[in-house]
Amino acid sequence: MTQKKYLLAETDVPEQWYNIVADMPNKPLPPLHPATREPIGPEMLAPLFPLELIKQEVTTEKWVPIPDEVREIYKIWRPTPLFRATGLEKWLDTPARIYYKYEGVSPAGSHKPNTAVPQVFYNKQEGVTKITTETGAGQWGSALSFACQLFGIDCEVYMVRASYDGKPYRKMMMNTWGASVYPSPSTRTAAGKSILADHPDSPGSLGIAISEAVEMALHDEQTKYALGSVLNHVLMHQTVIGLECVKQLEQAGDFPDIVVAPFGGGSNFAGIGFPFLRYNLEEGRQIRCIAAEPASCPKLTRGVFRYDLGDTVGMTPLLPMYTLGHNFIPAPIHAGGLRYHGAGAIVSQLLRDGLIEAQAYNQLQCFDAGVQFARTEGIIPAPEANHAIAAVIREARQAKEEGKAKTILFNLCGHGHFDMAAYEQYLSGQLVEHEVTQAEILASLAELDTPLIA
Ligand SMILES: *Cc1c(COP(=O)(O)O)cnc(C)c1O
Repeated sequence: MTQKKYLLAETDVPEQWYNIVADMPNKPLPPLHPATREPIGPEMLAPLFPLELIKQEVTTEKWVPIPDEVREIYKIWRPTPLFRATGLEKWLDTPARIYYKYEGVSPAGSHKPNTAVPQVFYNKQEGVTKITTETGAGQWGSALSFACQLFGIDCEVYMVRASYDGKPYRKMMMNTWGASVYPSPSTRTAAGKSILADHPDSPGSLGIAISEAVEMALHDEQTKYALGSVLNHVLMHQTVIGLECVKQLEQAGDFPDIVVAPFGGGSNFAGIGFPFLRYNLEEGRQIRCIAAEPASCPKLTRGVFRYDLGDTVGMTPLLPMYTLGHNFIPAPIHAGGLRYHGAGAIVSQLLRDGLIEAQAYNQLQCFDAGVQFARTEGIIPAPEANHAIAAVIREARQAKEEGKAKTILFNLCGHGHFDMAAYEQYLSGQLVEHEVTQAEILASLAELDTPLIA
């Protein structure tokens, strides 16, 4: 019988984060001021983020030490287990060896606390008393609420209206950790009021919720803002995932040919992928890193590479990214964490340079994959993670056709225990397909006036 589970000791919790920028042949382009379109300095970010995180955002140091206080909290759930997917392999009858890293064992049930904890830690160190943020499906909001509670900081969450109404228990989770949660668009901010004036029934979007959270942070000096994906420092914090995997696969006497993760803004993909991509950049290995995105929000496979805003109203800097346009409102698929119009600057540059790959999957195919995974492996995945599983199944079938014993590693970035309504729709045959049309993408991109990146 093949070994199923690979565990590490607490002492194996990484002591440093890996910063891939140090190894990138082309560094990510700088953020620009939305009005002047000149590169912005740290002073423009200072009202929003603590200094230490701004430093991490621009550092080119390859290894950044993880503070002891953060490592101690990581130990509540880290190191996370690595599993060999023996049940899935058998069902697929594939020669491929499939492994998955399970991040659903964190208190919030996803990988998001890996960055929430250090972000709150640095805010606390610099005397911040309140942090605002946005949340889509509720995973980031719950991770930040948990971390804020540990450090005694107030947490204010703007939750996309559609999720606020549809996922009441995620809201309760945030309330349990002491956070205040408001449906977005709200009447608490100018941004929210202006959207509601035009669209009183707006279901909201991540872009709108970010505008609201940023506005609230700008109003008050003791209040800062936190983002759960996209930014360089967020991606770096998540590399604890892949760094642990390297050791665990060493235990297994294996090494991946393919690394797969679902893709929203890029943080869990970076987390598992970058510590392996490092071997490509340093030693010329050829590990394929595949980002799996939804067909209804396909910024990597069908978007353009250009400067765009991170939010809807225009309160963030312009960031270089693969984007569908900041006004793009994705269809209400169940993988709420993947409904973001853009991608992080680092991941976008890597895709542009052909160093990573992207694939798009539709919702039904993803739930087919997720249910098959639950039936063969036991764990019920978050709808976001189902995108990675769909990609893994495709690659494992390919390996079978080619008769190759490839090693595939993927990130099971969260459990789906708060997504039973989505599984209910799937199981009762009511889940609908969403594929965005070319006309919709072109219409959204036509609203951008920022320069294309050559
Ligand atoms: C937030 C989230 C995502 C998407 O965000 P990334 O930054 O791309 O990782 C994917 N899966 C889960 C479970 C999430 O909570």
